[in-house]
Amino acid sequence: MLGSGETLCPRNCDHHGNTIYSIRKPRERNPILVAAGFFIAFLLAFSPSAGAADTFRVLTSFLPMEIFTRNVVGDTPDITVESMLPASMGCPHDYALTPGDMKKIGSADLFVANGFGMEEFLGEPVRRANPKIRVVETARGVRPIRTGHDDAGDVNPHTWVSPRNAILQVREIEKALSAARPAGAGAFRRNADAYVSRLSALAAEFEAAAKTFRRRNIVTFHNVFTYLARDLGLTVVGEIETAPGQEPSAGEIRNLSRTIRERNVPAVFSEPQYSPKLAEALAREAGVPVRVLDPVATGSPAPTAYEDAMRRNLSTLTEALSAR
Ligand SMILES: [Zn+2]
Repeated sequence: MLGSGETLCPRNCDHHGNTIYSIRKPRERNPILVAAGFFIAFLLAFSPSAGAADTFRVLTSFLPMEIFTRNVVGDTPDITVESMLPASMGCPHDYALTPGDMKKIGSADLFVANGFGMEEFLGEPVRRANPKIRVVETARGVRPIRTGHDDAGDVNPHTWVSPRNAILQVREIEKALSAARPAGAGAFRRNADAYVSRLSALAAEFEAAAKTFRRRNIVTFHNVFTYLARDLGLTVVGEIETAPGQEPSAGEIRNLSRTIRERNVPAVFSEPQYSPKLAEALAREAGVPVRVLDPVATGSPAPTAYEDAMRRNLSTLTEALSAR
């Protein structure tokens, strides 16, 4: 471009005035001009407007992965974070990819998943949409809880609803981002450190409160609070929905109601992403109130959304379990 003697600016550009960038004599190749031109070409090539193709695209499977990832990315330039599932969807149990999802996967560089079977579409469907995509299953460092009564059962995938596990998952996201974008590793580390220290404070609040609980048995809508229960020394003595989308029979409701009375369970915990009708029916039969616990699978993707929702859960648990 410069060798031809053309100016770098549009013809009516005047912001360079009469500096060396303004080429008056096209036939003469002044070495300073050539060097300056290469420098400008270099700047243009790496400027944000010219670097759209250089943007690193992170696709997260659902809301909690989006919140964790946004905290690690922070304001690092040239990285976008997008959630594949809308924030109203909740857990992606049994979710099948849509053509729109395939397109999003096709243009992403890194896929951040929970793992432990939460995203059944991981593997072949994702690879087909994008053979080059990196995938991180953030739960990999968590000590798993099996859903069955022995070690052969499936792993409970609701790891993130525990601040201690969230810390491990955030560190996995930091590792994956740093491996894929080494230039940002310092920023990812700083952002992850700051978020982990907030999550550690949150975990400590839960643990301090749990020492004051007088009751330890809970009944939840589905097996979403099992990891948090393990952290706090609580026992989940019953679940309304034992498999995704499977409503309990009248007999199962009667049995659960008996369990609630026998095990001195203070409340039935429902979740904002599901209709409270079943929880209300059960609570009525057992003579206890319904309280809402939020597994942060729906709602705001704001960076503090996980902590905010978990603190609301903590006050709900404290109120219900501190009473005799
Ligand atoms: Zn779930």
